[in-house]
Amino acid sequence: MINCNVCNENLTDKVYDTTGVVSITSVCTAVEYPTEVYYCNGCGHVQTLEMPNESSYYDETYNFLAESEEEDQIYLVDQGNITYRTQHQVTVLLSKLNLSKGTRILDYGCAKSSTMRELTRRNLGITPYLFDISERYTAFWDEFIEDGKWATYNLPESWDGHFDVVTSFFSLEHISKLADTLQHIKRVLNDNGYLYAIIPNTQTNPADLIVVDHPNHFTKQSIMRMLSDNDFSLQEIDDSSHRGAYIVVAKKGNSLSPHTPDSILKNEITSIGEFWKSAAQRIQEFEKTATINNASAIYGAGFYGSFLASNLSALDNVKCFIDQNKFLQGTQLMGRPIISPIDLPNEVKIVYVALNPKHSRKIIQDLTCFSGKDITFFYI
Ligand SMILES: [Zn+2]
Repeated sequence: MINCNVCNENLTDKVYDTTGVVSITSVCTAVEYPTEVYYCNGCGHVQTLEMPNESSYYDETYNFLAESEEEDQIYLVDQGNITYRTQHQVTVLLSKLNLSKGTRILDYGCAKSSTMRELTRRNLGITPYLFDISERYTAFWDEFIEDGKWATYNLPESWDGHFDVVTSFFSLEHISKLADTLQHIKRVLNDNGYLYAIIPNTQTNPADLIVVDHPNHFTKQSIMRMLSDNDFSLQEIDDSSHRGAYIVVAKKGNSLSPHTPDSILKNEITSIGEFWKSAAQRIQEFEKTATINNASAIYGAGFYGSFLASNLSALDNVKCFIDQNKFLQGTQLMGRPIISPIDLPNEVKIVYVALNPKHSRKIIQDLTCFSGKDITFFYI
């Protein structure tokens, strides 16, 4: 029996489980552990059965973009122009909060904290602090954060009431003990301080539902419930400024508890679970129809690409992954090179497009280097 991380109700309604034994993590590794996802009728939260030893997983194995200080994820490709996630996060943060000179800002669950690094480059006169539950990233922090302004594992008592802003960029989805975390954040915020969080939006980024190391998949309803139960006053939930995510701004204080979620939300979450079950079947059926030994490539060296590869029975036919992210090009995934679209070998006749299905067709249409080539595309 598992209980909801937000409202503690028993979770009985399963909306997804892996058909095989392999699950994919947020850092695109395959693990032999099942993914089981539940919908909470009490608060509208969506929750994945926790992997064993969550905390040691992050401390010892989780290595989010830790290759280099500059490595980053693509946020948007528009007519050949690439915007990386860090730039976009900084732009939106600065548009939402007034980070004036002297502002003390703590990045909670910060990993490499590329966002704080970018903020310090802009010479705004703010003072960044960092916190994570791992020591893995401290070498990165040392390069731009003063001694005494970062901590690992526990928040120092000297930080109580110290911060004008606590940020959480894609960390709350990893944390099972949400109430403890919210209380810790409240403790270190000053009375007028802001919590600023970016959280995946499963309804606009369906991959989030099946990321095995994301125990939490928030909905608007469950975000509101989490904040109200922990005495935060919601200022804003913005679901449009960061594609595929919610931007949440809250302050200390009371807010009304949201209504019990309706069946529309449950149906929507259920249909995302069904999409993934059918995606696995569609991949396998397409593969059977493809000519034997036809060279293929997977477009997308991220989560979708890893999911797709894990569902192919003949991975040997996959010659490469294609990705526009220059930080990934020249590296490998599953023993195959990651190349730029313009470098696609002529022998490749099948391209599995493994991108967010809400945007994938447009991304491929915009690529001039594929036009005129004899390629069959499969869309996840
Ligand atoms: Zn719940």
